[in-house]
Amino acid sequence: MKLLMHTCCAPCSVYCIDELRSENIEPVVYWFNPNIHPYTEYKLRRDCLKEYTKSINVESIFEEKYGLDNFCRGVVNRLDTRCQDYCYPVRLAQTAKYAKENGYTHFTTTLLVSPYQKHDAIIEVAKQMAKKYNIEFLYRDFRVGFKVGQAKARELGLYIQKYCGCIFSEEDRYLSVTGNKPNLPEGFEFLPVTPSINIKKERKNKEQYMELLLEADPSKEMINKYLSDGELFVLTYKEEIVCIAVTIKVDNDTIELKNIVTKKEYRKNGFGKKMIKYLVDNYKSKYKKIIVGTTENNIPFYVKQGFDKYEKTINNFFVDNYNEKIKDGDLVCTDLIYYSKDLKKK
Ligand code: SF4
Repeated sequence: MKLLMHTCCAPCSVYCIDELRSENIEPVVYWFNPNIHPYTEYKLRRDCLKEYTKSINVESIFEEKYGLDNFCRGVVNRLDTRCQDYCYPVRLAQTAKYAKENGYTHFTTTLLVSPYQKHDAIIEVAKQMAKKYNIEFLYRDFRVGFKVGQAKARELGLYIQKYCGCIFSEEDRYLSVTGNKPNLPEGFEFLPVTPSINIKKERKNKEQYMELLLEADPSKEMINKYLSDGELFVLTYKEEIVCIAVTIKVDNDTIELKNIVTKKEYRKNGFGKKMIKYLVDNYKSKYKKIIVGTTENNIPFYVKQGFDKYEKTINNFFVDNYNEKIKDGDLVCTDLIYYSKDLKKK
């Protein structure tokens, strides 16, 4: 089976991809969503999906079509039936057509995961498109895994939107007094959500993590200087240790992140980000700021996590404090550059 999966956003793709992979089906993600407005929202969802698919090694195709004009023209005379009469047909027709023209045997859509969508209408439209373009539609009731997928998306720090996509759904979301209720068949049950990520402070035997800590700071001597007085946090994913962080108090207002490391095979999956968020939440009532000393290569990562204020540079830190040359990728490290995050900023 060669499957093209129309994908509306990263959070909705999480369960669908996991479920298909558990059946040994490798989907190719297909982004075609001219229904998402305004452009800033479109870009946020698209870029999040790009990053997520890359992180889990799923092939993806992005049709760059921001379609505000056509979409509004298409729905203006049928606002009440816009989903089934315009939005699903436009997206699924393009998916089925692309799939047929590019050698896929099947197509499906992540729209099938949301209990808030008109599930039966999606099936109906998909069947029509399958017939029109002479290609198989793969149906799965992904709705059972909606909560599991959303919980995992939250754990991974993926961007989670607050409305379906079009400006009309944005209005519904904010003006609706009763709230949008999912429309589910009688007796329907979601799969239970069990958190797969846990973070806890480790008080005893911190030396057991030395091997992993050395991946971020290659001097045992340096690590020993902050490990005994520092606080060590362990992030586990499905009960496996994946990410470690060590912090140390600088003064009554400041805490320093001294070491953060994610196991090689789990990098680029958002675990470091998750750990930093946890530390920030944990320390914001106690300290005014959190600082981090880093190499040049890692500045963009920390700025993205809110460490946006430059503090100071310790020139030749890596030359003066380490016996061997310290490398970060191709960069030979010399200076230690400090940035901070304001913990009181809303
Ligand atoms: S509510 Fe969602 S599915 Fe319906 S038209 Fe708007 S974007 Fe499309």
